[in-house]
Amino acid sequence: MKPSLYIHIPFCNRKCIYCDFYSVIYKDNVASLYIDVITDQIGHLDQQFSTIYIGGGTPTALNEKLLEKLLKALKRSSDKILEFTIEANPESLNAEKIKLFLSLGANRFSIGVQSVNDQKLKKLGRIHDSKKAIESVCMASKRGFKNISIDLIFGMWNENLGSWRKELEEIVKLPITHVSCYNLTYEKNTPLLFALKNRSFKPLEDEAVAAMYKCAIDILSLHGFKQYEISNFSKDGCQCRHNLNYWENNEYAGLGASAVSYTGGIRSKNVSDVEEYIIRYNGGRSLIESSEKLSVLKRAKETAAVKIRTKEGIDFNWFRNKTDFDFCKLEKGVLPGLIQEGFIKYKKENNVLIGICLKRKGFLFSDTVSSAFL
Ligand code: SF4
Repeated sequence: MKPSLYIHIPFCNRKCIYCDFYSVIYKDNVASLYIDVITDQIGHLDQQFSTIYIGGGTPTALNEKLLEKLLKALKRSSDKILEFTIEANPESLNAEKIKLFLSLGANRFSIGVQSVNDQKLKKLGRIHDSKKAIESVCMASKRGFKNISIDLIFGMWNENLGSWRKELEEIVKLPITHVSCYNLTYEKNTPLLFALKNRSFKPLEDEAVAAMYKCAIDILSLHGFKQYEISNFSKDGCQCRHNLNYWENNEYAGLGASAVSYTGGIRSKNVSDVEEYIIRYNGGRSLIESSEKLSVLKRAKETAAVKIRTKEGIDFNWFRNKTDFDFCKLEKGVLPGLIQEGFIKYKKENNVLIGICLKRKGFLFSDTVSSAFL
C-alpha cells in the first residue's frame, strides 16, 4: 500500500473557542511565504501516494492565487490518485475556488459545516451561519463535486436531543456522501476549557451526550449513511480512504507546520510554528520538533488501538499479516475484561473466532478500549 500525504494549512480567519489544532490568523504575506516552502517541498517528493489530504486550519482561507500554486505543485502527485481531499470552511469558499479544486485534481471535498443551528454556530465561535453552510454544500455539488463530506459537532451545553435531531434531519437532505460527527470535547489551552473551569456554563451530562450519539447513528443510517468508524458515516463506496489508511496504521507523510509523518517505524512531528517552519526550511535546518522510533511491539499495539475504531474491527489474520503478532496473545491481559464489560465482541465464521469488533456500548467507550490495547 502506498503511503498517504497530508498537507497542513495552518491559517484560519478566526479561532473557534473549542479548537486545539495548530493554526494562526490568516495573513497574506505569511501565507505566501508558507506556500512557497510547501510547494518547494512538494517538488522534492520522490514517491507516489495513495491519497492526498489538504487540511487545516482552513485551506480555503488561502486566496485563489495561493491555492492555485499549491494545487499545481501537487498535480504530478495527484494524477491518477485514488482520493484527493481538500477541506473548506463555508465563509471562505467561493465558486472560483471550487472550480480550481475540480480542475486541478481534487475529487473529495470536506466542508466544516459543524452545525445548521445559528445559535450553536455562534456559541462555538464559527464565522458562518447555517444559510452559508448549506449554500456552500449546494454550490460545491452544483459545480461538480460528487463526493462531499461535512463535519458536525454535537454535545454542546444548552443543546438538547430535539434540536440535534432537527439538525440531523436537515443535513441528510443535503447533496452529501459522508458525515463526520464529533462530540464536543474540552481540549487543553482552549477558551472553551477556560470557560468551563470558570463555570460559565454547565456541560451536558454524559447520558445526554450518549443519547445524541445514538440518535446520530440511527438517523444517519436510516438515510443511507452507514457507520464505518466511531465518528464517520458514509454512503456506499464513499468511505474516506485517507482516514482508513490511518486506522490501518499505514504510513503517511506530513508536510507543514505541526504535521506528523509516520514512515519506517518512525513517527515525527514538525514544528508547530508557521514562521519558525519557514525560517528553518529556508535556512536548510530540520523541520522536526520531535520524533520517536516505535518498537515492533508498540507498532502492533498502536495498530490494535486505531483499527478497533472501525466498525469492521480487527480481523485476526489481517492483524498477523500486518504486525507478525497473534492478536489474542498480544492482548490476552485485557480481552476478557473488555468482553465482560460489553465493549467488544468476537466475530465468528463457521464457529471459528476470526476477529473482534466494538459493540454498541463499545462505540460510546472507544477511548477506553483503545487505551486498554496500548
Ligand atoms: S476553523 Fe477549524 S481549524 Fe480553524 S479554529 Fe475553527 S475549528 Fe480550528
